[in-house]
Amino acid sequence: MTNRARPLVLAAPSGTGKTTIAHRLVDGSPDFVFSVSATTRRPRPGEADGTDYEFVTREVFEGLVAEGEMAEWAEVHGELYGTPRRNLEGAAEAGRHVVLDIDVQGAAQIRESFPEAVRIFVLPPSGREMVRRIGLRASEQAPEVARRLRSALRELARAGEFHHVVVNDDLEATVSGVQELVHEASQAQRPGDLDERVRTLKKEIRDILSDEFA
Ligand code: 5GP
Repeated sequence: MTNRARPLVLAAPSGTGKTTIAHRLVDGSPDFVFSVSATTRRPRPGEADGTDYEFVTREVFEGLVAEGEMAEWAEVHGELYGTPRRNLEGAAEAGRHVVLDIDVQGAAQIRESFPEAVRIFVLPPSGREMVRRIGLRASEQAPEVARRLRSALRELARAGEFHHVVVNDDLEATVSGVQELVHEASQAQRPGDLDERVRTLKKEIRDILSDEFA
């Protein structure tokens, strides 16, 4: 079967471990590559420009949107986030699955413009665990935690729009589960020797027609 690399969309509420899953998928993998989004939000401690995000001004971001450079974009928690179109094109050319760590609004746009993308929604094991994980980020103070929890309520309402929903209670199991889903989806396409098969079948059918039904 042909192994056509499909984009992978990962969406989840904050504190689900989605970004960790995305990085685990791409680290050292020849099959997966991370889509570095552009954002207007400020870098958090430890985040590198060009690796975690492309940190840009609102002006630059709006320019990219106006020039049609964004495959999708959305406002999340008051900041703009978007996937540069070239991330999808580059990965397709390289035959790699590009991993989009994006929000539900972006996922809905990808559903329209890249219907071949595999869209997976990740659930946290529990609300309490989600709060714990959000709070672990020292930069996030109580009002920010509350804001993310309110967003989570809106995002959870859209889990049904995804091809698959996985519960991240065990990171290793979740990562391999996601890998499997993407590989399966990519293989369920068409035989690699499709042209040859069709040619042979057509010849066979023509022979039967002329031998038995002429
Ligand atoms: P954070 O600021 O915590 O890194 O990300 C906030 C939310 O924005 C997360 O749900 C993240 O997945 C989402 N996000 C990151 N990049 C993009 C993007 O390119 N497009 C969209 N629509 N959402 C994004």
